[in-house]
Amino acid sequence: VSGDNSLYGPRDPGIHILDRGTVNAALYNSSSAWLLEFYSSWCGHCINYAPTWRNLAADVQDWHPAVKIGVLNCADEDNIAICKDYGVQFYPTFRFFSAFTKEFSQGENYKDSDRRVQTVRHGIIDYLQAAPKEHQPSAYPSLDPLRLSDISFFIGRKESHYTAIIFESENSYIGREVIMDLMQYENILVHRALSSDKAVLETLGIVSVPSCYLIYPNGTHGLINIVKPLRSIFSSHLKSMPSVRKKAGAHSDLPARLEDKEEVAWKEYDKSKMYAADLESGLHYLLRVELATHQTLEGEKLKTFKDFIAILHKLFPGRMHVMKLLETLQEWLVSMPLDKIPYDAILDIVNNKMRISGIFLTNHIQWVGCQGSRPQLRGYPCSLWKLFHSLTVQGATQPETLANTAYESDPQAVLKIMRRYIREFFGCRECAQHFEEMAKASVDTVKTADEAVLWLWKKHNMVNNRLAGAPSEDPKSPKVQWPSPDLCPPCHEEVGGVHSWNEREVLAFLQQHYGSKDLSLQYAD
Ligand code: FAD
Repeated sequence: VSGDNSLYGPRDPGIHILDRGTVNAALYNSSSAWLLEFYSSWCGHCINYAPTWRNLAADVQDWHPAVKIGVLNCADEDNIAICKDYGVQFYPTFRFFSAFTKEFSQGENYKDSDRRVQTVRHGIIDYLQAAPKEHQPSAYPSLDPLRLSDISFFIGRKESHYTAIIFESENSYIGREVIMDLMQYENILVHRALSSDKAVLETLGIVSVPSCYLIYPNGTHGLINIVKPLRSIFSSHLKSMPSVRKKAGAHSDLPARLEDKEEVAWKEYDKSKMYAADLESGLHYLLRVELATHQTLEGEKLKTFKDFIAILHKLFPGRMHVMKLLETLQEWLVSMPLDKIPYDAILDIVNNKMRISGIFLTNHIQWVGCQGSRPQLRGYPCSLWKLFHSLTVQGATQPETLANTAYESDPQAVLKIMRRYIREFFGCRECAQHFEEMAKASVDTVKTADEAVLWLWKKHNMVNNRLAGAPSEDPKSPKVQWPSPDLCPPCHEEVGGVHSWNEREVLAFLQQHYGSKDLSLQYAD
């Protein structure tokens, strides 16, 4: 298994893979604008969206002197500080960066919720056109429509090159796209003109728009006859004119990447077991990566974090050194009457505790039961599910641990904190929205701690059902209704010939599976 968890590779056409070593240099004072996807390789929506982003990058790769398409993986621990600098907390986040910036900028969000290739392409054009003069890319062709006087200037004129004029309505993007498509081609200049002046259209014999009018180098001119007035057809027609060719050296200058990641060996594991390594790796990622993208915690975020640590401190089924760390953190938070805490102060506590003092949390990832057959699959979201299932089970099987706390008589305590954590911090935004909808619809029906365990199990199965067959599904760990019959035969029954869960058995199974007694320490360091 390769350790490189990127969703994009160096062979993806038009994609610039940036990382902590290259991103600032690439964006600073760049001669082109940039559109960057900050993603997280474990985020299912990023995995599902990657083919679209790849298509977009390939589609506009000829535009690269004016705009480059980049990606940066915020799930890569090396990039944590950089994603924090750019203020990226949710994935995927799309940002424009203008050309010729003289100081650090966090960029401008691409806000449209429609992220299909064509919509994003139009968004790029709008962004370029709105850029102030000093931030226009150096290789930026004019996208403004020709004036009437310019059109008559071109018609019949002998030049050393072809001149193409796309006539179209004002809100059509085709002309601008074809101009961008041909920007790196020599012996041709492309312009657009608006179809509002009927007299000009009549003179040139244009009966429908968009149409492309071509003036040959020898001055002859006429309409191009093509089957369908589409951007791709106009562009490929113009690119194939005699003597029209791509300028020499018109290649994309890709920044060098940091060194490749080491291979990670596959670890054999038992699906019926829970591994401390998964829970601890997940906690490490949560505290040092997911939350570390926040400069400060305040308001609802701070409250959620405090409650989350308080419940972890009571219910995390961890080893002594981890529990001591959670206790230290919990005590520190309680002793801090501040309404705003810099996250670095929290990181100091998480990081400064030494092995030798018996208070520490692993500082690297070691997925076992959450291993993916490819490095971008499974991992963190898997460990987060396991964490919250474990907390609901501990809450139900050891209610005494919550005695004398604010959560004592609240059977929904863990679920409420989970809901708030997912809402405030979980990097996969669309996952969070889905989860919020499920919680809103039914979490209030939970009346006992056992029902909380079963509620989460059911909701997780609903998610499994929705994601079965999605690109984020690991073929080695298919999204099945869980626990499958091989893991828990008595959980499955048939009533009237139809599958039915025996919920009493499911509860017993979950209590055993997620209970602290059987936690395997294999691979845990
Ligand atoms: P996971 O679904 O992560 O499960 C981890 C482990 O939990 C399994 O290996 C199994 O041992 C156990 N398990 C499985 N089902 C159950 C169950 N019903 N009850 C108890 N234990 C179970 N991804 C998206 O693409 N879209 C989303 O909308 C989305 N929403 C999410 C919401 C939340 C709150 C979380 C934590 C994750 C979400 N994800 C979403 C990620 C997705 O659910 C998976 O976590 C991810 O695809 C990794 O899958 P996996 O194969 O490791 O199994």
